[in-house]
Parts: sequence; structure tokens; C-alpha cells
Amino acid sequence: MAVESLGPLPKTMRGLQIVEWGKPYVYSENIPVPQIKEDELLIKITVAGYCHTETMVLRGDFDKLIPWDPLPQIPSHEATGYIAAMGSAVDKSQFQLGQRVACLNYRSWCKTCEDCKRGMQLYCDNLKSNGTTVDGAMAEYMIADPGSTLVLPDKVPFEKAAPLMCAGATIYSGVKRANLKPGQVMAIVGVGALGHLGVQFAKCLGYKVVAIDSRDAPLELVKSLKHPPDIVINSTEGYKAALAKIPWPVDAVLVATDAIPAYEFGLEITRKHGTFVDVGQPFDPIPVHYRHLIWRNVSVVGVSLGTIEDTKEMVQLFADHDLECKTKMYDIKDIEQLIADTHDKNMAGKMVVKVSD
Ligand SMILES: [Zn+2]
Ligand SMILES: [Zn+2]
Repeated sequence: MAVESLGPLPKTMRGLQIVEWGKPYVYSENIPVPQIKEDELLIKITVAGYCHTETMVLRGDFDKLIPWDPLPQIPSHEATGYIAAMGSAVDKSQFQLGQRVACLNYRSWCKTCEDCKRGMQLYCDNLKSNGTTVDGAMAEYMIADPGSTLVLPDKVPFEKAAPLMCAGATIYSGVKRANLKPGQVMAIVGVGALGHLGVQFAKCLGYKVVAIDSRDAPLELVKSLKHPPDIVINSTEGYKAALAKIPWPVDAVLVATDAIPAYEFGLEITRKHGTFVDVGQPFDPIPVHYRHLIWRNVSVVGVSLGTIEDTKEMVQLFADHDLECKTKMYDIKDIEQLIADTHDKNMAGKMVVKVSD
């Protein structure tokens, strides 16, 4: 089987692995470099994102859902880097060796089910997910599927692109799921990580945007953006105070936090016949009072990541409008410091890990 590569590939690489569920990541310089199939890409990882989902992966939440044993497993599903090798069946008009790319997490979809056939591979029952159910991006090399990989515009640095592959793709899907027209009103509840991207996407799509959070740091962050929200509200004041401050009916609410009170708050400020979009994944069930569904006809929907086409559109929007993605970069050996910092209330923006140059 023919595989082209940029040069001889090493046999081993450095990276982080989950060796035992619930235990800290283990740093190793002896991880075997993965072998690609003829229809796959091998990515030399530069920057990998650290997503909220990492804690679920580390706990072993997804292990219960798959029939194979993924351990030891490399974390991170937000991958950026260069194409280091590609199989002979990869379309050379789309990808070349050495290109700067970023990858969504899904690969190995079946290509035969209804969802795969309509370009919705992320709902395929046979999907594998980089960093979630198979090896991910916190090591020097990662396997990627060309169908979930995009070439990065020169303007978008790896450090900004990594969070776009999960946080960006997810929140962009959420913004689009509301199906608003320019001039309509979107409130985003939770503007720390995903939400600060959502605010910018929604503004660039022409919506009026209300940014809501219970913490001051993210609210200050969104005010400082080049595309700031129209209104900023601290949710600790309560939803009645919020409604008094918003001069328009809120056509859609996008919840981008796991905080349960955010759901009730968001539903209360959604207009009658409006749309409530969830991208948060709280451990506990989401409370939805029947009154919102029945008396007020609010549609409650959710999204999972994004299609590759939507994600390409989002990355281009990001480049064209010079959008900002606040990141904090950590060396791969400082992962425990990164994890400690996720509990810092003043943390705003996305955390990423430098894997290699
Ligand atoms: Zn994620
Ligand atoms: Zn399928």
C-alpha cells in the first residue's frame, strides 16, 4: 500500500496518554507513530486544544459506549498541524504534503448509512472519534480522515484554529441551528469559551447579540472584542432584570454552559415561538418546564459539532472578519497546570497545548 510522506517518519513519538481511567495523563516519548491506511492522512500535530470533554474522556465515560478497549489513549479532539503523510487514495487536488490543516474529530464512518450518505457523518453509529474513542491530538502524529480535515487559511494560526475544531464548530452549528435572519436577536448564555466565539459569529451573520454570563471575566472579555455584543448582562441579576434591559424580543437563545440555572434563565428570556438551542452538556438532566413548550411554543433543539462544510464556512468567516479566539497556550509537559487552571473562575477563553513546532 502506497503512502507518501514528507520524509522518513520516526518509529516513536512523544505525547500524553490515558493509561488508566480517572488517573492523570502519562507523558511518554515512546508512543508508536500510527500507521495510516490508503485513504487517510497523517498529521504532524503542532497545537492541540483542551476541551471540556477531556474530563469526560479521562473519566472513562465514552469507554462504556464502545466495544473496543481504547487504552492507552491519546487525548484531544482539536487537532492542527501539517500533513506529514498521505495514503495513495487521498484526493491530491484537495490535499498536499506539508499543508497547514485542522481536523474535526470524526473518522472511519461507514459511508453506507443514511447519515453518511447525506453528509452527516457525525451521526454515523460506526464513527470513531479522535481523542474520544481512539487516539487524538496530544502527541506528535495523529491519523485524520480527509473528509473531516480542512486546509487552514494562512491568516489563521494553529493556536487559534485548534479551538475552532470543536468549540468553534459546535457553537457555529448552534448559531446556525437557530435559523435567524439578519436583524433578529440572539442571546448567548455562557460566553467564556464557546460563547465568546458564538458572539462574534452571530454578530458577523448580522444578528443583534445579547451576551449573558454569571461571571465578570467572560463579560469583560466579550466587551473588548472587535465584534462586541450589543448588550451584556450579568445573569446573577435574574431573568426579569435581564428582560427589562433587552429592548427587543429574543428570537433565539443559545446556551453554551453546563450550569443548570442557565437553562431556566435562557428559557425564560426566549420569546414565544422562539428557538432555544443547547450546546452545553451538563451531567444532570436539563430542566424544561412544560409551560415553555406548550403555552409558549418554544422549540428546544441541540447540536453536535459541525459538518465539515459548515466548519469550512466558519473558519473562512473567522479569517475574513479577523475574529478573535482567546487562547492560553501550555507546554505539553505542563498539562497538570492547565487542568488546575480550568478551575480558575477568572479563566476566560480556550486552553491549548503546544505539541511540536
Ligand atoms: Zn470538544
Ligand atoms: Zn455511517
